[in-house]
Amino acid sequence: MGAVANAKANPGTLFKACHSLARGTRSFLPLPILPLDCSSLSLMSLIVQKFGGTSVADVEKIQAAARKAIRAQRQGHQVVMVVSAMGKNTDALLGLAGEICDHPPAREMDMLLSTGEQVSVALVAMAIHSLGAKAVSLTGGQIGMKTDNSFSKARIQSISTERIEGLLSDGNIVVAAGFQGIDDDLNITTLGRGGSDTTAVALAAVLGADACEIYTDVDGVYTTDPRLLPEARRVDVISYDEMLELASLGAGVMHSRSIEFAKKFGVPIHVRSSFSDTEGTMIVAEAESQTQPVSGAAMTPDEARVTVIGVPDVPGKSQQVFSAIAACKIAVDMVVQNVGKKGRANISFTVPSGELEATLAAVESVMETVGADSITHDNQVSKVSVVGSNMATQTSVASRMFRALANAGVNIHMITTSEIKISTLVPKSQAAVALRAVHEAFDLHQRPQDAQSWSEIKKDRDKADVDTLVSRLRDDALEALTLTGISITEKQARVTLHGVPDEPGIAADMFETIGAAGIFIDMIVQGYDGDGGSTSVSFTVDEPALQASLEVAQTILQKHGMRDVQGGKEIAKVTVSGIGLRSHTHVATMLFQQLAEDAINVEMINTSELQVNAVIDAKRAVDAVEDLKRAFADSLL
Ligand code: ASP
Ligand code: MG
Repeated sequence: MGAVANAKANPGTLFKACHSLARGTRSFLPLPILPLDCSSLSLMSLIVQKFGGTSVADVEKIQAAARKAIRAQRQGHQVVMVVSAMGKNTDALLGLAGEICDHPPAREMDMLLSTGEQVSVALVAMAIHSLGAKAVSLTGGQIGMKTDNSFSKARIQSISTERIEGLLSDGNIVVAAGFQGIDDDLNITTLGRGGSDTTAVALAAVLGADACEIYTDVDGVYTTDPRLLPEARRVDVISYDEMLELASLGAGVMHSRSIEFAKKFGVPIHVRSSFSDTEGTMIVAEAESQTQPVSGAAMTPDEARVTVIGVPDVPGKSQQVFSAIAACKIAVDMVVQNVGKKGRANISFTVPSGELEATLAAVESVMETVGADSITHDNQVSKVSVVGSNMATQTSVASRMFRALANAGVNIHMITTSEIKISTLVPKSQAAVALRAVHEAFDLHQRPQDAQSWSEIKKDRDKADVDTLVSRLRDDALEALTLTGISITEKQARVTLHGVPDEPGIAADMFETIGAAGIFIDMIVQGYDGDGGSTSVSFTVDEPALQASLEVAQTILQKHGMRDVQGGKEIAKVTVSGIGLRSHTHVATMLFQQLAEDAINVEMINTSELQVNAVIDAKRAVDAVEDLKRAFADSLL
């Protein structure tokens, strides 16, 4: 059932509030039918309203959606609706296909799944007619939604707007089918589960819409999943970058690719409930607060840790391990390479626990070529992360998180950090406690004092900000990987502590002591040593701070009885920045391949939605950047 099972893997549903909104459906009064003055249409603003499956699940809900669109039109907007398949219709179609055959041809699968949206758009258009307004429904092909031909995960290439614009200026509400497009040969394609969000934001982008409203069964984005933590708070604003990170940690509110689109084109997104009129959450360029270091927390329950022990510390070895895993289409997450002892390194990483067996098999198959000693794993672990746009410029954010976990008695097995995210791997049995502890430590249940209010949020499209970027995009590759820079940060240094006991409180103590010494830390990684369950912790600082950092590290080493401390000078950080770095999974692979080809050893790495960073020998940094610029020439603006 390979293909069917994969397609069924629904995007996570973190942050989907289970509040009884769906049951509290309100009845709407019929709208008065007002004559429409078409002469003023050219001055009208344009809004895109997207209705998800639960918002068109039955006749009453379809009628309510139609009323929302008519009301917006009566208020003077041009309205484009984007609609998903009714209720669980897509799942039902998948089930049917699975009963017919184990591996349905991908093309036929897309042909089948696209029918769900076709049913919805026709019914919504009928509902609008019966309420006395004008509407025309259109399929993906009819709105000129051109995609590549990768069935079930097609990427949008271009959208032609003439037909929609013509219909709008004739006073119609345009009802467009979400989730689908056509390729060059007119085959029907689909964008991947949850893809209607991406249709909606893409239409808003190319039509120059003033806003994109996402009507759904929750009333906005929460600081964490309210089903896991009732004290989670609905936020008024969240930044594109934060939403991208949270979405990749499993927040199911929005399709990740829709946020990439919104960021590229500066489309403000309003996530709100289709069952009430309350304002929801705006996803825009700025964060809710200018000072609060953390905006959201997330827990990914089912993770597995794999450690490859005794990897020869020469360029290209970790590349061999990760290519073997990538060949099985398994997404590797937290990656920590400990600096080797006696010329050997340990590589730890996490994968979804369901993929553990396949991952172990993939690694086993290259053990001999790589020349590594052994593999260990643990599938009883969960990932707890915090995300925030302001954390990069603040000190002690990491130690505050580690302290909260220590106080709750939670042991941290692994740590990785990026500019706007800190992730920890913790025992599965402590995951819920850990999530609550960090949510509380960063006061996420409370509205930040300097939070923007609804009247302050910039809800209009900020065209000036994005024009320079958009003007450089190819208009036939709207969803292509977009790299905005490849750069070097010089004069970095690394400190590594070996033999760090794998017990609660050690990381908290370490990073509090370092913070108290006034040392500003950039990257932190913690991973397994491979012997006796102890771990290694590495962090980077600016080179002038190396001496002071080593002295502090010595005191920590003595206090906790660690094995040794090493310092590495003359290292540099190479950074690839852009939009779509995660969803275009080849970026990290290409980066490591290029560095391996250049025989450059990677000492530390981190990846996020915004950047991929590699810490390497400073003497090789200029070569590395030149070669990476060449390798990524097609994507670099
Ligand atoms: N109907 C599709 C799905 O269930 C697309 C969507 O709802 O966004 O995934
Ligand atoms: Mg959906």
